[in-house]
Order: sequence, then C-alpha cells, then structure tokens
Amino acid sequence: MSNNKQLYIDTEALSTLALVKAGLIAPVTGLMNAQEAKEVDETQMYKGVPFPFSFILAPTGEKNHQTLTSIKEGDVVDLMIEGQKVGELVVEETFTIDPEQRLNNIYGTYDQTHPGVKNTMARLGKVAVSGEYTVNYPLLTDNINRIQKMINKTGAKFISSLMLAANPLNRAHERMIRQAISDSDLLIIFLRKPFTAGGLRYDIRHNALTTFVDNFLPRNKVLIIPFENSYIFAGFNELILDALLAKNYGCHQLVVGKNHGGLGLYYDKNRLNSVFDHCKEIDIDIKTVDEYVYCDTCKTLVSTTTCPHGQHHHVHYHSESIMKLIQSGLIPPSILVRKEVSANILAALFPERFENLQEMHYSLMPGSGLLEQQSEEQFYLKLIELYQTSSLT
Ligand SMILES: [Zn+2]
Repeated sequence: MSNNKQLYIDTEALSTLALVKAGLIAPVTGLMNAQEAKEVDETQMYKGVPFPFSFILAPTGEKNHQTLTSIKEGDVVDLMIEGQKVGELVVEETFTIDPEQRLNNIYGTYDQTHPGVKNTMARLGKVAVSGEYTVNYPLLTDNINRIQKMINKTGAKFISSLMLAANPLNRAHERMIRQAISDSDLLIIFLRKPFTAGGLRYDIRHNALTTFVDNFLPRNKVLIIPFENSYIFAGFNELILDALLAKNYGCHQLVVGKNHGGLGLYYDKNRLNSVFDHCKEIDIDIKTVDEYVYCDTCKTLVSTTTCPHGQHHHVHYHSESIMKLIQSGLIPPSILVRKEVSANILAALFPERFENLQEMHYSLMPGSGLLEQQSEEQFYLKLIELYQTSSLT
C-alpha cells in the first residue's frame, strides 16, 4: 500500500480519462488546468478546434472533497475504483468549478429531468484537479491495434466510420452500412456501449450486428469497435466529439443520418457556424445520408427524398417502438428488422421460454426431425418464415 492520498472515481471517468490519454480526443490530451478550462468554457475552442466544454476531473463525494481541498502541487494521488488502484495523478493545481455552468456547457441545459444532466450532476463535485496522469485501461489499445491490423491486412486507403447504437439493428441501419461500404475501402462501426442501463444489453446488440456483418456483407470490409459512450458524448455537441474520435482512430469519413439528433439540436442553438464548418477544422469528411423509410407503394426501403408517395405511405424505423415490440417478446415485421437479427435477439432476451421446444419444432415446422436438437434461435427463424407464408390456395 502506498501512502498516497486517494481519489475515488467511477468507470465512466476512467474510460474518459483513458480515451483522452490514448490521444483519441486530440487535441485534448490531458486534464485542463483552471486557466485552460476557463478559456474553453468561454470560447468553446481548444487549440483551434471546436471543443464544447472543458475537460476536467472533479469527482463528487465527501472523502474526495477532503482530499481535493488538502492536496497541493507535486503531490501524487492514487486514482481508485472500488478499492482498486487504477491510475495515478501528479497534482498541478486544484480549483473550484460551477457545476451548473458545466452542465449547461455539456447539455445545453441544466434541467434536472434531462437524464444526462441528472447522471452527470450526481457524479460532479465542486473542486477539480489538474495534472499529468496515467491510467490502466487495456481496452483502447486493443481497439487501436485491431484497426491497424485490419488496415495492414486489407491495404485500405479510405476509411469510413459510423456510430451506431443498434438498439436494435434495423433495416435502415443496414442500408446506411451498405452505402458507407460502397464508397470506402473499410468501414469502422463504433458500437455505442452506454454506462447507464436501458435498452438492449450490449452483448445482445453486438451479437446481432455481428450476425448481420458476418452473413450479409463482404468479407474484410467492416470492423466493429466497442465505443464507450461516456458523458462527454451525451451532450448536444455529440457530433463534434464523435468526429474527433473517428478522426483520431484514423478514419477519413464519418457517416451521419440526416435525422441525427446532434444535427437538429445544433442548428436550434443558432450558432454562428454550422457543425460542418467546425468539422472542416477537425479535418474529417462528414457525409450525411437521407432518412430511410419503408414505402408500402414502392414496396421497398426508400429515402424520403427519392419516393413521391408521401408520409402516409411510409413506415418509419423508430427504434424505441421496435424495441418495445421486441421487449414484449413480439417478432418485429421483417421489413423493420431482418429475421436473423430478430431471432438472435429474442433468443437472448427470453432464454428457455418454451417448456417443450423440441416438440413445438416437430409439430409446427416443416422438415424438422425429432432427432436434431433445435435451438431457440432456429425456432424463431422458422417461425418468422412461417409468418411470411401467406398463400392458402
Ligand atoms: Zn414510395
């Protein structure tokens, strides 16, 4: 045990500290001191690049407050999570912050019914500390290596990227992915991994996305990278942070849906510059793609700008509603979610749901013998195929 004082942080703070330390949010590469923090909060710029709020460490809690008010320049502090040392910080200075102003900078509001505001508020103390630090967090180095390996293997020159929650993966996502592949050598899909519960479990989403990538896309064109969605990506400036991250991972392009929340919110703020002007400075190509809908007259997936039939013929890919279907155990229509993906997710969400699965297989499904053990995933797949069989004549 060292005699160092200790600061207690959480995994969300650790992940963010690691991201910055790995250079993935460059030009921000460390904690800002009082002067830098003040400048960034006032100008929303850092080293010539738009950066919406200061990057600081101000963990909450009584113990932390005592530590933060007693340490001085040159002290070494251990960064702790649940009794484990996860890093070390050499104190440069400590300074008080205004939590309300900070929340406003991150989320554009400090309305406490906003889930992000509530979450960050609970984690944010009144005193920040700056200084050089190190953290143990192998995940990011893994990601960087995996991307580099894939580039070496495929000789990819132009790398595109896409941020996806895939909650759940729907047909419109698939279309966006295909479009992104068709004009790049390699597509990195950053799959958002939130710190808060809600939505589908990450492993279930990852599995469903992998099922699609492995079975329905060309080989060696797509790489799925977990992307820990910490508070810095939760605000209304999310798009800028996404663009910085993608660029620092080596991507040349970020594909964004035109209905992306970050775009609309950004324009509502009536900033002087559009987000695209900002991204010019970030030096990554932002490509917007139209919103896709299913048209019951075209009988296919169309973009709202290329189909003449109008709203009342369109089925929207509304993730929350599709999620509600799945969470109720219902199979979403195949025009919304691919059957392989639905089957994969339902089997994961409702394990051992049927008392006598083999018998149900045997009595309902054509061509299945009692001898072969059928998985629940197989059962859903065949059931969906049956749903699609309509003719009785
Ligand atoms: Zn149409």
